[in-house]
Amino acid sequence: MGTDCLFCRIVAGEIPATVVRETATTLAFRDIDPKAPTHVLVIPKEHYADVVTLAEGDPGLAGELLGTAAVVAEEEGLTVDGFRLMFNTGPYGGQEVFHVHAHLLGGAPLGPMLC
Ligand code: IMP
Repeated sequence: MGTDCLFCRIVAGEIPATVVRETATTLAFRDIDPKAPTHVLVIPKEHYADVVTLAEGDPGLAGELLGTAAVVAEEEGLTVDGFRLMFNTGPYGGQEVFHVHAHLLGGAPLGPMLC
């Protein structure tokens, strides 16, 4: 999308991020304001505004994003006790960055709602 999108700029290396996993099509990096002991954002490198446009526009890429999230969950040691994987979507969903991202949260018991 270009310079107006924060996460496109992270993909381009213009803004620093703590990357925990990178594939040809996806990037996983630590949230700058973590809401749990482990809080990683998983994004497609290609710009899609939200999970609906991603799922409609490139379902294969949506699957790759989920695959990256699953690998990171394993690597972060979250699969034993469980974790939360969620997409805030649109204003009512609390989405603030309009480059689709999955929040991967874990490392402690999470309440019924978070973020
Ligand atoms: P949203 O509310 O689902 O759009 O979540 C956006 C997330 O991006 C929030 O959890 C922010 O803390 C996170 N965030 C914003 N800027 C950065 C950054 O530069 N690096 C990493 N995470 C960021």
